[in-house]
Amino acid sequence: MHEFSLAQGLCAQLHGLARQHRAKKITTVRVDIGRLAGIVVDSFTFGFEVLAAENPLTSEARLAVTLIDPLYRCDNCGATVRAETPPSACSQCASPSLVREGGDELILKQVEME
Ligand SMILES: [Zn+2]
Repeated sequence: MHEFSLAQGLCAQLHGLARQHRAKKITTVRVDIGRLAGIVVDSFTFGFEVLAAENPLTSEARLAVTLIDPLYRCDNCGATVRAETPPSACSQCASPSLVREGGDELILKQVEME
């Protein structure tokens, strides 16, 4: 249960943030997940909901997940493009030398709290 431990990590991070900001309640949590992270979003969301319900701080929190495509940077001209599958060539200079950056990240983007 890879997703469950990720959800646990997220909850721990949220509790830390709430303490830091002296918040009583977390209302919205926005997370970006890279398409190549190998995270099943449904399982992650489910894990989060189960864990969040156990604590009054997060019991009303809404989790919004955005899947993001990996970024490909052209080795020749530096142009970047986000794509689900690797482009065969740079759209700016036609160089075939594109380097993937990220795509396997899990980023806590925004937390709204009261
Ligand atoms: Zn290029």
